[in-house]
Amino acid sequence: MSKESIASALKQATETKFLEIGSDIINKVPEIFAAQFPGKKAIVIADPNTYKVAGEKVHKALKEAGLEGEEPYILDDPNLYADYVFVEKIRDYLKDKDVTPVAVGSGVINDLAKRASSELKRSYMCVATAASMDGYSSAGASITNKGAKITHACEAPKALLADIDIIADAPPLMTASGYADLYAKVVSGADWLLAAELADPQNPKKGIEPMTSAWNIVQDGLAEALQDPEGAKKGEHKAIELLTEGLMLGGFAMQSMESWGAGVSRPASGSEHQFSHLWDMEHHTFKGEMAKKFGLYPNQDEQAPSHGFKVGIGTLAITAMYELMLKTPVEELDIDAAVEKWPSLEEQLKEIDEMFGGSDIHPFATTQTTDKCVSKEELKEQLTKIKNNWPALKESIRKQVIPYNETKKRLAAVGAPVEPEEIGMDRNRLRESFYRAHKIRSRYTILDFAYRAGYFDQWVNELFGENGVLKG
Ligand SMILES: [Zn+2]
Repeated sequence: MSKESIASALKQATETKFLEIGSDIINKVPEIFAAQFPGKKAIVIADPNTYKVAGEKVHKALKEAGLEGEEPYILDDPNLYADYVFVEKIRDYLKDKDVTPVAVGSGVINDLAKRASSELKRSYMCVATAASMDGYSSAGASITNKGAKITHACEAPKALLADIDIIADAPPLMTASGYADLYAKVVSGADWLLAAELADPQNPKKGIEPMTSAWNIVQDGLAEALQDPEGAKKGEHKAIELLTEGLMLGGFAMQSMESWGAGVSRPASGSEHQFSHLWDMEHHTFKGEMAKKFGLYPNQDEQAPSHGFKVGIGTLAITAMYELMLKTPVEELDIDAAVEKWPSLEEQLKEIDEMFGGSDIHPFATTQTTDKCVSKEELKEQLTKIKNNWPALKESIRKQVIPYNETKKRLAAVGAPVEPEEIGMDRNRLRESFYRAHKIRSRYTILDFAYRAGYFDQWVNELFGENGVLKG
């Protein structure tokens, strides 16, 4: 990866205009702020911890440069998390003040400031303090609203700064979480290869996007960014810098897809993220020793696993499914039999009633499944395309997917969980999650191929069977 790839990605990003990643650059905030927000005054938004590690320096530098509009706004609630009540607090505090937010922090602070700024129709700047997730540069904020976690569409930061000296000192588990979130791009890339096979550039359809340059933004430097999990764990600057770049590029790739509608996350999120989204919707929490280790808020007793850790377990599950796909003679697929068995929308919705009836996931799964449902004719056409192109497609998927054992080894090396039990899931729940994750998003992934071609039960049974890698 290089400065050129960042520059080229920035050019394709629609909202972020500036990013600098480097060592000892925290004092450049005033210079960048003045250039990106001419005539504006700043307010630092942080929590006590991020204020200590970077916010104070940023505040002082802005003050000395005469760019401070208001004293820093510190969210000091010990139970601070990405909940909408905090968005309202920030928004109401800033409403009558003519200041531009400078969010200093990682996932929570950035998501809160992003949404609050978006509601105030103000652009903002972000100073990253950890390589813990890929949301810095994305046009969306993952925020819980009355108990339900929702990705709200909102504008990405106009300017971003990532000081590697600060990020390298972040808790290693935050880095591990970011590494797992970046690793997910391996299988989400495979999902896109599969979907693009079905895409019709003349008649583009949401959920079956053709390849765009967003693919290169994410994938070109991915292998390099993931090659040194041990170094990332130890906070070695080179590894941390590559990881940070990779995470930022994911958001730029999403911004470049803007013509597909706000927040199309295809370049950075596939079936592995559907597991994580499902567990969010199920309000999955865990407690005890593992929660202390892999939870998002270590000072709470019962809590959710961090985003990256849920995504990491999802990535392992989907990697295992891709390995089975590569072993399956798809060139022999009996298309007529698959089409014959294809359930009508009515039957599929009945399946959803049984799976989600009475829960708040039900209406969501109903809409998403309806959106992606195809007729028997369309199904035949889709399966024919994949069957006919299987030799070439198989080769590109083989090149894309990193083998399960190697994936597990690297995730363990960075310090991320590699067994579902480590995030409070038993095997049955993981097994069920394959079926449930498939229903909650209209984006075409390996789960859709498995379902439509009639391999779903066979593959899941094999994954959890006698010699299955997910058996435990
Ligand atoms: Zn993610």
